[in-house]
Amino acid sequence: MSGLSEQAFEKLKTLSEIREGANSNSHLKEELIKSIKITQEFLENRTSRLSLHDLKFKIASPAIETEIDSLFESILTAESQLTINDTTLVELRKFHKLKEFIDTHCQIRQYSFQIKKCNNSECTICLPVELPIEVFDELHFLPDPEPSIADSNHYKDFSSIYGTQTSENFRPSKAGQLEADNLPQGIFNNNRVREFVECDFCGKIRCIYSMSALKKEQISTLQLKINDNDFTCGIEEWMPPSHELKGIVFIRQSLSCDSPIESGYYSNRLKKPPICYYCGKNNSLVEATDDLLHGYQSVYPLCSNCQLSGHSFHTWGKKKVGELTRKRKRE
Ligand SMILES: [Zn+2]
Ligand SMILES: [Zn+2]
Ligand SMILES: [Zn+2]
Repeated sequence: MSGLSEQAFEKLKTLSEIREGANSNSHLKEELIKSIKITQEFLENRTSRLSLHDLKFKIASPAIETEIDSLFESILTAESQLTINDTTLVELRKFHKLKEFIDTHCQIRQYSFQIKKCNNSECTICLPVELPIEVFDELHFLPDPEPSIADSNHYKDFSSIYGTQTSENFRPSKAGQLEADNLPQGIFNNNRVREFVECDFCGKIRCIYSMSALKKEQISTLQLKINDNDFTCGIEEWMPPSHELKGIVFIRQSLSCDSPIESGYYSNRLKKPPICYYCGKNNSLVEATDDLLHGYQSVYPLCSNCQLSGHSFHTWGKKKVGELTRKRKRE
């Protein structure tokens, strides 16, 4: 990089600052692209030498800008209000037409994204199916791996699950991930919640813990890290070893995007707005009955969507019968 670009780059602290910097300084952008090329090629070379069951890994080149633009043009047919800067899943969820398109045409997984024409004559987005219809009907989304019933050490045969409804429940990184090693004892305590960070994938708010209250400078450093938007539920090494808050702040690595909101979020001390315990949304929350509210020390918020899908109020600390009346008498 030229001295001038080095200087400009030096000032950019977070990934989002780098993105913005590159957008407003086309020379810097060009030089950045050039300077990561060698690393990209190196990684490509290393990865292409890997193989699994005698099959070589395939490497796809990163999308170039014209490809991104033309993909974006097609997305506009599904949702005209979208702008190219709406890049996180959380932002995309706010667009109802796009959400409907995704729900009816796509399958989103942590590591894959698939689209298929819907073959619905009323659909205004898909073009008509060109394949012979008997071939089209036999095309399904690629299934998620599921363990074989006969031998749980192996996955089911592709042919036996292709075309069936599968889920991500058996994704290795999802199943029972452990918390990080060397955690300070008792760190995941509601009293140790200091800040919050939003998952870039599911949008749920997760707690950030530290043993003692953070100093002013630490809070601003943490805020910079949060603004990087590089957090996903259960992420390992969110704080890289060189980060000054490494070993000071912690998140729960055992959580996945399907995990409910941590109870620490609801701690009275933090005065956070109520969000659904299961999905983390703050709209259409259902009112809990007085019986529930009086019967438990904590009744966590529930939204009507989650209630419809079969969830009931999550509660904690059942009060003993008569506890209330006795307390009142003592007063
Ligand atoms: Zn369609
Ligand atoms: Zn998540
Ligand atoms: Zn919900």
